[in-house]
Amino acid sequence: MKTALTSEIKELLSTPKNCVIVGHKNPDGDAVGSCLGLDLFLKSIGQKSQVVMPNDFPDFLKWLPSTDTILNFEKQNIQSVKVLENADVIFTLDFNSLSRVATMQETLEKSNACFVMIDHHQKPDTYAQITYSDTTMGSTCEMVYHVIDALEGQQHITPQIATLLYTGIMTDTGSFRFPSTTALTHRVTAALIEYGANNAEIHQNVYDTNSKSRIKLLGVALENLVVLQEYHTAYITLSQKELDENNFKKGDTEGFVNYALSVMGVVFAVIFIENKQENIVKISLRSKGDFSVNEFSRTHYNGGGHTNAAGGRSLLSLEKTVTQFMSILPNYKNQL
Ligand code: 5GP
Ligand code: MN
Repeated sequence: MKTALTSEIKELLSTPKNCVIVGHKNPDGDAVGSCLGLDLFLKSIGQKSQVVMPNDFPDFLKWLPSTDTILNFEKQNIQSVKVLENADVIFTLDFNSLSRVATMQETLEKSNACFVMIDHHQKPDTYAQITYSDTTMGSTCEMVYHVIDALEGQQHITPQIATLLYTGIMTDTGSFRFPSTTALTHRVTAALIEYGANNAEIHQNVYDTNSKSRIKLLGVALENLVVLQEYHTAYITLSQKELDENNFKKGDTEGFVNYALSVMGVVFAVIFIENKQENIVKISLRSKGDFSVNEFSRTHYNGGGHTNAAGGRSLLSLEKTVTQFMSILPNYKNQL
């Protein structure tokens, strides 16, 4: 972290403030881990702090320390708005554009608080007074560790904070296997284990707590897998009907797209998930090497993310979304 940035954050936190920390819609391990990790750290240095999420987070993260303190903007709206209105400082973690907080956007735009962005997504917007953006980082949790380190706050890292940050680093780096995993990531992870993160337990809590219906849904997804050898591409579809038949719960499809990417020779993988409630098709894109799914998603799916992992949405039906995908794929043949 740059010295000037450290000084700005030190200055900001030199007096007690009402801090609010927000993550993106459908918060993942990195969003929940980084928001709560920072929250517990701020409290331990004498700041007031509250985490507000746009909506609920998946069950496989509910075991994490202090998740019961999170305010859900959708479900606890009045309380959440009040907290945001009283904020002196709003930390926005693990996203780069206010549109990523969905219905919370309006309240954030009205706020006079000082905004601090901590994020690793490409092309960050400029809404924050203090921006710590680093797209070489594998996770926002790793960045929160660097903030704590720069503020010389290591003595405040409890096993709870270590567990939260470890979890986000682990989930966002695909268990330390994506190219964004660096020697520094491993040094941070090693420190977190020393501060009390129980790595084996965390892996079990996140990855070995599948419901039978989730595994059945994975079976359906694998059955629907289409491999397009010519384009080194594979995709999976899941219809609303298939989700309903398998008792779908938020977070159940997390990681499914990686099975498509694991097919030999495939460098581009996509999962299309129908969401009849929101009338959209949610799209997750993954790649290996230089092919930028961030660019692909920005161009075609009103989304974004990172070079090798991005998300977006389509307003067409599931079938038409796939037809359209097939029609644009030839334009990318020489990049794939
Ligand atoms: P996922 O496919 O797991 O939902 O998301 C992959 C990555 O892309 C994550 O880093 C996530 O934050 C980002 N992402 C997902 N959906 C969107 C979206 O609609 N817009 C943007 N800008 N980023 C997204
Ligand atoms: Mn992240």
